[in-house]
Amino acid sequence: MVKSPPADAASFGSASRLQGYSVFPATLIYDAADQGYNHETGHQWVNHMSTGAFGPGRPHWPLSSMSTNLMNYSDAASGFGSRIPCRFNLQADGRITVTPWIPGQEFFNDMDLYLMGLMAPNEVATQYLVTDTSRAAGISSPQGPCAAIGTLTTAQYRTVNASDIVAVQGARVPSSDASQKDFRSLHVVVSRDSLLTPEQMAYFEVYTRRVEDRGPLMLPDSLNGFTNPWYAATKNRSTISAKISAEPVPAISYGGVVNAANFQGAAMGPSAVVTLFGSDLAAGPASAGSVPLPQDLNGVRVFVDGIPAPLFYVSPTQINFQLPESLPTTRALPNDLAYIAMVRVERDGAPSNIAYIEIRPTVLGAMSYGDNYAVATNPAGELIGPSNPAFAGSPVVVYFVGSAPLTERVAAGQPAPTDRLIRVQGASLTLGGQVQASNFVGLTPGGVGLYQANMFINGALAEGEYQLVITVNGVTSNPVKIPVRRR
Ligand SMILES: [Zn+2]
Repeated sequence: MVKSPPADAASFGSASRLQGYSVFPATLIYDAADQGYNHETGHQWVNHMSTGAFGPGRPHWPLSSMSTNLMNYSDAASGFGSRIPCRFNLQADGRITVTPWIPGQEFFNDMDLYLMGLMAPNEVATQYLVTDTSRAAGISSPQGPCAAIGTLTTAQYRTVNASDIVAVQGARVPSSDASQKDFRSLHVVVSRDSLLTPEQMAYFEVYTRRVEDRGPLMLPDSLNGFTNPWYAATKNRSTISAKISAEPVPAISYGGVVNAANFQGAAMGPSAVVTLFGSDLAAGPASAGSVPLPQDLNGVRVFVDGIPAPLFYVSPTQINFQLPESLPTTRALPNDLAYIAMVRVERDGAPSNIAYIEIRPTVLGAMSYGDNYAVATNPAGELIGPSNPAFAGSPVVVYFVGSAPLTERVAAGQPAPTDRLIRVQGASLTLGGQVQASNFVGLTPGGVGLYQANMFINGALAEGEYQLVITVNGVTSNPVKIPVRRR
């Protein structure tokens, strides 16, 4: 529920600066990235339309295209409010069809953004207001609101624009040129009888920090649901900060956890080496000095589904780490969804936001550099590249990372043994589209999460550059180039 600012705000040192507050009565619905938080915060501006064509919807919107977004619908007579997950589609003949859409990634509509000072009146797209009030009768029926609204003839709706608000209330002050775009929020957790444990507080800290995320974000309590946090919900026009400390707080960039081979792709597998980008992740750079890899490097820890991950390297903007070996790779669902794991960073105990990654059983990333050349070495241990091609018929070692079925498991953070070889099961290679024989594909002895393929380059190849692809269980790696010359 949303409240007006208390009259005694001055007592708290923020006279006329506290703009509103919301109360979330249940722990389970507290998520500052969720539509509930956006909706209640939106009421700061979208709550007072008591006049003109907009009035019947107070404190939300009357039945209209505006009520299909985050700020919802209020019935004029009863005050009853509800979500209208529909689209208004203007047809060539002037009629409007109303069709369902899957709720989730909801935005503020243009009229909301105008009232919030985030959009100029002339940017606001024309909205459609249902004037046939009988259309609201069946919106809570089993057929749903879209069927109840049905198809609207030109006599059953009218268009409204921001100028209609200006006509009854005057122009917004300040205008969107001068209005506040960046906000700060304070989140207070109230507990009964005793203080929460640090673990319980971490839950609230993480879900508070989600207000700063750029989104869309996966909802942790739903199977396929996504939500737009504030920034995305305001169409990238506004931010809310939840930082209240001068201390740096680690933040993972949106989409910032990637395959370490080529910094691409959201999918990765158990024990895979991955890279995480962000800000304020660590006080300075530090590398693991020995194996097994540490789970704490300069006070920085990374958790994947709550499991501490082995760390190769930390810096203020980048962390290289290995995913835990024990992550599930499928969900117990009838369809073929990947398992989604949650990643978060802790810096001296301060938690970051959460990033979500897809976990699949087999994921291969061929390591590359420069213009997509394979990270591959010749028998002298030199890097192969355009100025140092491989010889046709000569041995080459190609490196990759990822996750693949192995003849023996190795715990995350531990080096592969040096007294025996651990092989990838079912691996095959192609070079230039031709089958390329290999004498070993498996873990690099002494390496952590590192794979290699040992092969003799096909001796019949002509001079040129060839694409190498590794395939395991039908899963292919990204293609990387190997330049080849002849003796
Ligand atoms: Zn409301």
